[in-house]
Amino acid sequence: MASIPKTMKGVLIEKTGGVEVLQYKTDLPVPTPKEGEVLVKNDFIGINYIDTYFRTGLYPAPKPEILGREAEGTVLSTGPSGNLYNLKPGDRVVWLGTSAYAEYSAVPASKAVLIPSALPAGIAAASLLQGLTALTLIRESYHVQKGDWILVHAAAGGVGLWLCQLLRVVGARTIGTASTAEKLELAKANGAEVVVNYKTETDFVGRIKEITGGEGVKAVFDSTGKDQFENDLEVVGRKGTIVSFGNSSGAVPPFSISKLTAKNIKVTRPTLFNSIATREEYEGYSAELFDFIIKDKLNVRIHETYPLSDIARAHTDLEGRKTTGKLLLKP
Ligand code: NDP
Repeated sequence: MASIPKTMKGVLIEKTGGVEVLQYKTDLPVPTPKEGEVLVKNDFIGINYIDTYFRTGLYPAPKPEILGREAEGTVLSTGPSGNLYNLKPGDRVVWLGTSAYAEYSAVPASKAVLIPSALPAGIAAASLLQGLTALTLIRESYHVQKGDWILVHAAAGGVGLWLCQLLRVVGARTIGTASTAEKLELAKANGAEVVVNYKTETDFVGRIKEITGGEGVKAVFDSTGKDQFENDLEVVGRKGTIVSFGNSSGAVPPFSISKLTAKNIKVTRPTLFNSIATREEYEGYSAELFDFIIKDKLNVRIHETYPLSDIARAHTDLEGRKTTGKLLLKP
């Protein structure tokens, strides 16, 4: 087992703002795992849109802060009591937590799981957060049934491609939206039955009604937030569900609950972390996700693996709508 150095490379922010606040450092202290934690040497770090919310301050967090919420790597040591969830030095794990944009992270053992040997390097870090999000959304936010018409916004994005693929596996009929012809093609190749450009379609609501024979969709999975929310209210069918789970275009402003009356609409605003709060939930959903990847041969699309020092370019690409699938960092 490699010895543990005192300092490491990582990305720190001391204040919120644009990509200029991202500081690549080479002399950050390597963390010491506390009770309930393990120290992991990260091999691949997952970038998620939520990282940009912590950078801009949309989601508050104490500063200075090392950004990043998931990575895969090797367990180097455990906290004072050792042997947590049977994790031991040398284990290959993928984890969710904080301070992932670094060579080493002290992570809650309860949120680290072993990587199945069938997964090539990088695939677990490219899958866990976005894949678990999609899986819990189609189970808990609206339990999708075979034959349901489902609208997925930003269908060629990270979570979007997972939704398209998982919805195909469960037999739903997916309408995917995106902003370019290339992204729409990708959504289609990954399971969307029909695709619509939500940037250029002049009668978006009419188009969705036409596709669904006037009925509207059973559920909308909307990660864009403010831009599409009014459309969501129009295109969801009677007794339908709007699942608003992100803010890529900004947060949904307050709205009147009476807007839901016309069609008995349900609106839910889930976060992954509440769906996997217990070890049992986390292990169960992770095992199911790995099973989907391996047995159903899901396509884990990696947009680019950026060097950690190139973090500003990665955030610029993600926020600039230039990416499809997953962005990874290599420390
Ligand atoms: P994506 O890969 O989906 O990237 C964002 C995409 O959103 C863009 O490529 C773009 O696709 C679309 N988009 C629409 N409007 C805008 C806009 N104004 N600015 C930028 N992008 C826009 O990112 P992720 O898969 O990482 O995350 C997707 C969303 O899901 C985020 O909002 C994230 O916060 C949320 N999320 C929520 C979780 C939860 O627990 N609630 C967990 C994980 C993610 P296009 O060009 O096609 O419009």
